[in-house]
Amino acid sequence: MADGSFASQGAWREQMTDIEVRSADGADLDVSIGIEAGGSGVPEAASADGTVTPVTIPIALAPGVTVRFATRLGGASIGAWGNCNFGRKVGDDQQAVAENLRGLARLLGAPVRLVHQVHSAIAIDAGAAADDGIDTYAVDADAQATDHEGLPLGILGADCLPVMYADAQAGVIGASHCGRRGLQRGVVHSCVEQMVALGADRAHIRAVLGPCICGDCYEVGDEIAAEFDAQFPGTRTVTRFGGAGIDIAAAALQALAAEGIGEGQVVSAKPRVDAATKYLEDDPELMALCASDGEGAPELADRLGALSHSMCTVENPLWYSHRRAYLAHKDHEGRFLAVVTRGEASGVC
Ligand SMILES: [Zn+2]
Repeated sequence: MADGSFASQGAWREQMTDIEVRSADGADLDVSIGIEAGGSGVPEAASADGTVTPVTIPIALAPGVTVRFATRLGGASIGAWGNCNFGRKVGDDQQAVAENLRGLARLLGAPVRLVHQVHSAIAIDAGAAADDGIDTYAVDADAQATDHEGLPLGILGADCLPVMYADAQAGVIGASHCGRRGLQRGVVHSCVEQMVALGADRAHIRAVLGPCICGDCYEVGDEIAAEFDAQFPGTRTVTRFGGAGIDIAAAALQALAAEGIGEGQVVSAKPRVDAATKYLEDDPELMALCASDGEGAPELADRLGALSHSMCTVENPLWYSHRRAYLAHKDHEGRFLAVVTRGEASGVC
């Protein structure tokens, strides 16, 4: 990274155009591009010329609705936050974060709308807030929905689960921040309720789960595991560290089912993320991150070789993970973004 050896990136990114992957039910996904990216990578500092382009993995959620999971790649952040942190409250250089957000806005055709996430079940109408000129990043909430076109909704994460939603027929999208506490407090329910209030029909809502800490990695202790399992039966785990853990993705599926959003309405992101991870096994930027982040084996090949769950933030070096940084005795880490958009104005890439 420090030597600026990004000359080859244009080549690998151009090769990204025809990855064929299938969703869990075997249906072809609408979007055939495994990763969207471009630009120079700008590894050293926030660029003044606006060439930062976050590397994101797109998922076709519903007609006209795309969900993207931004990786650690392609941004202007450095050090503990490298390379594409979207969190403005985690100690990173504000100019770098702003540059990353601008890069994402160029990709989406509009700035992403964020909320001040506090592990609550509060859901807001992001479109109404936008109409009123409210900066929702100052508003405590963990779910947002809108019936506006071209208004990207984002959820920040670094182990917590983003769940993104769309009722394409009603033209309503939603996004929720589903950590342990948010799930227990009912954030999935409140997000769906907000969507229904905007005209969505539960029977038409499709949902996709983003990256999160997996049940093998999320150790919480006996007491919390028992309490969580009482609310979401069968989600208690024994982690790879040997203690009691929980599976928040499994709990989110239960919460969705309780809203009438069954398995058939949930799109799996895993095939696309698997393909993208495989594709990036020789990526120089990801190699450089692994060599320098101190959060695991320095060789990317070794990290990928040990990978059991590509969607797991702790295991896959594509994602930020609070737990992985903690295990590495680090004080800081970045935040990735999950974004849902409907009727994008223009994708630059
Ligand atoms: Zn894991």
